[in-house]
Amino acid sequence: MRAADLLFPRRCPVCDRPVLPRGGLICRACADSFVPVEEPVCLRCGKPVPEGAALCRDCRIRPHWYERGCSVFVYRSISASLYRFKYEGRREYADYYAERMAGRLESVLSQQGAGAFPVPDALVPVPVSARRLRTRGYNQAALLAERLSEKCGIPVLADVLRRDTDTAAMRLLGAAQRYNNLKRTFHAYGNGVHLKSIMLIDDIYTTGATVNACAEELLRAGAERVTFMTLAIGEDTNAE
Ligand SMILES: [Zn+2]
Ligand SMILES: [Zn+2]
Repeated sequence: MRAADLLFPRRCPVCDRPVLPRGGLICRACADSFVPVEEPVCLRCGKPVPEGAALCRDCRIRPHWYERGCSVFVYRSISASLYRFKYEGRREYADYYAERMAGRLESVLSQQGAGAFPVPDALVPVPVSARRLRTRGYNQAALLAERLSEKCGIPVLADVLRRDTDTAAMRLLGAAQRYNNLKRTFHAYGNGVHLKSIMLIDDIYTTGATVNACAEELLRAGAERVTFMTLAIGEDTNAE
C-alpha cells in the first residue's frame, strides 16, 4: 500500500467511497458492477450487437475512417463513474480503468485471422481543446493513455493531435450534426504520425464522431492504420 493511501484513501470507481479492502483499485464488493463488452460485437466499432449481426446499425449506414475499434465496458454501467472521472477530479480511477483496458487490449491483440487487430506502434489520446484543458486541469483520454502505456509498454504520443476549437454541447446534437461539428477540429502535427499503426484512446465511444474525425486527420497526415480503444461504448441504436 502506498503511504499516500493512508492519508488520502483511494476512492472506488464504482461507489466513490474509500476502497475496501484497502490497497486495491476497486472494492471487492464493487468489482462486478461495470458490465464488460462481450461477444457478439460489431466487427468495425466493437459495439455489442444482436446475435448474428456483423455490423451495428451505425456502421452499416456510415463508413468510418478507422479500421477497427474495441472497448472495455458498456457505457450505461459506467456512466456515473465516468462523470466523476471527467468532471469531478477523480483522476485516481484511471488506474483501475487502465488495468481493465490493458487486459482488453491483450485479448483483442491475441485474436488471429482475417479480422485481426493490428498491433499499435503508439497510443494517441483524443485531445481536448486548450481552453477545456485549462478549466478541467487534465485530459481524461491522455490520463488513460498514459496509464495504459505503463501497463502494455506501447508508447504514448500526446502531441500528435490538437483540437483547435471547442465543440461544446455535443451531447445535445444528433449524429449527423456531430459529424459536421467536428470537421476541421483536429489537426495532426510532427513526425509521430508517420508511424504505421496508431491506436486512438478515449474514454467513450457513442456515435463515433470524435474518434472518426481524429482517424481521418491521422490518415490524411500519413498514418497507415488507425484503430481505437475506449473505456466505454454505447449500445447498438438498432437493438430493440
Ligand atoms: Zn466500491
Ligand atoms: Zn459498429
